[in-house]
Amino acid sequence: MKRLARVRRTPWLIVVVAVAVLTTAAAVAVAGLQPANLSYTPNSESQFTNIDVARAWAKNYYGAPTATSGASGTWSEPLKLDSNYANEARSVAKDGANWLAARAKPSKSGDKRAIVLDVDDTTLTTWNYELFSNWDFRATPGMVDLVNEAKAEGYAVFFLTGRGDSQHNATIANLVNDTAAGFSPIDTLTYSGFKVPEIDAGYPMPTPLSTGHGGFADGLFTKPPVGSYPAYLNTSEFCASAIAAGKSCATIQYKSGTRAYIESQGYDIVGNFGDQFSDLEGGYADKTFKMPNPNYYLP
Ligand SMILES: [Mg+2]
Repeated sequence: MKRLARVRRTPWLIVVVAVAVLTTAAAVAVAGLQPANLSYTPNSESQFTNIDVARAWAKNYYGAPTATSGASGTWSEPLKLDSNYANEARSVAKDGANWLAARAKPSKSGDKRAIVLDVDDTTLTTWNYELFSNWDFRATPGMVDLVNEAKAEGYAVFFLTGRGDSQHNATIANLVNDTAAGFSPIDTLTYSGFKVPEIDAGYPMPTPLSTGHGGFADGLFTKPPVGSYPAYLNTSEFCASAIAAGKSCATIQYKSGTRAYIESQGYDIVGNFGDQFSDLEGGYADKTFKMPNPNYYLP
């Protein structure tokens, strides 16, 4: 499905919320539902949330109101699977599973069907304590079941992340398991003097695809270093200007260009899952699914 046919998620909810708030506050008030206007300048303190209050709300949302940050903090506590965050993540995963199940029959055009998923805070969750565990992340609630169901229904599975090629094998080890990445099994790792379990999230291996992306033969797309982008990104729609300037290609162009490449290989991307709007904009997916993430915003 090409870019103009992309269907946004819950457009009426966005409209209702946008109308309900004052125009001057709209960019901030609906930041969780649509791309934020980062140039918005409040006229008054009352037009945005105090940062310490927002931190407290984030902790409550993750079911960890007494969480403390830093190496001596509570980062080693497990993700609270009964938190509002976990419930919301499972809700998006369920919406995605229903969408995919209803489209599991082969299309008349004969396109192979696929899903594309971001990694950080889409398939692996990075709550603050995990920042201290050497980027060893737990599976996002609901998402392993979603991917397994989609695979059983015949969907190809591709992961698409802004993580660099140098993290490719480590990402496979975290997403799938250590041996799938060519490592010996790792049970624990030590960080800041704390020993924590090493996580194998248990996703299936992504669907193999050509080795045109960094020489990797699996369907995990990590980002090549500047100067090594594949030729399919070197078009004006995607990364040509960044390539010409010797700069890193912006996320929207990099990820939509990669999805366009996947579709050029005979796949129809039926669902695209990400926690950032920059994962989801730029088309080349029938429907996008926004995973919850109150912690950071990546344009
Ligand atoms: Mg992400």
